[in-house]
Amino acid sequence: MERRAFLRNCALGLTGAALATQRRARASTDEPLVVSTWSFGAAANDGALRVLSQGGSALDAAVAGVQVAEADPENTSVGYGGYPNREGVVELDAAVMDGATLQAGSVAGLRGIKHPVAVARRVMLDTPHVLLVGEGARRFALRSGFKKESLLTPASRRAWKQWKSRGVPVEDHDTIGMVVRSADGTMAAACSTSGLAWKLAGRVGDSPLIGHGLYCDQKAGGAVATGVGEEVIKIAGTYQVVEFMRQGIEPDEAVRRVVRRVLDRAPDNAGKLVAFLALRADGEIGYGSTMPGFQAAVRRGANSELLDAPSFAPGG
Ligand code: ASP
Repeated sequence: MERRAFLRNCALGLTGAALATQRRARASTDEPLVVSTWSFGAAANDGALRVLSQGGSALDAAVAGVQVAEADPENTSVGYGGYPNREGVVELDAAVMDGATLQAGSVAGLRGIKHPVAVARRVMLDTPHVLLVGEGARRFALRSGFKKESLLTPASRRAWKQWKSRGVPVEDHDTIGMVVRSADGTMAAACSTSGLAWKLAGRVGDSPLIGHGLYCDQKAGGAVATGVGEEVIKIAGTYQVVEFMRQGIEPDEAVRRVVRRVLDRAPDNAGKLVAFLALRADGEIGYGSTMPGFQAAVRRGANSELLDAPSFAPGG
């Protein structure tokens, strides 16, 4: 919460140093590469790389990596310990996409299941559908062998009670979004979130919507989003980032153009965090945000980096 308040007060503007770092963050095409959103992405990247080094696929790695964040009770915007809706119920959104086949699966408003990203993968593999929601998604998860669990931690229950007693709307949200490229060039993406804290019951954000919260086509690359999902949805954010890369636009410029689209759509959007992270098929990455503070976690072999993203001013 404090971070959001701080960010709102920060001046907007392109961070030159961050752009320079971004350009340095290239990879050779034959090493596995894992990128993900926010500082909690670093541990998730490690989990994904472990799976790749044991011979797992890019999709296995992305799902395993995202599950690290889902299992962390300290992470209040993803999975177990994620902040609940305004009724005090945790509702989770997640998605996976296979960059080789464009197969995808997702769940929205899933209650009582700790690993929605793993359920999303089962939707992709075991059903003819892409997206299952609410009670249907929960029943599908239980039939698929997932355990019913309480996802509210003592800390998240306390935070919800505080929010209720104060009644002040506070912006609190994040998503773990990850793009993986294995050594053979296969790509996959996955994401998971508890969405906006204190959201209306039934609210669904960008994360489980293919082409909005994540998109991956290894002929071009993959992208994931974080921030206010309503704004990502309005511009089909990650699909647009990937399509710009397909047209030959550099990933950092592809991200910048889409962030600009968010900012130019409505003047108020300068005060809302929306960020994208892109990985092109050749290993080039791009990332950027409407506001300072977004970080990209990058894991390449033994090398792990946390990079400060540039933010872009409206019209800039
Ligand atoms: N995009 C997520 C949502 O709107 C939240 C976030 O990533 O900050 O559900």
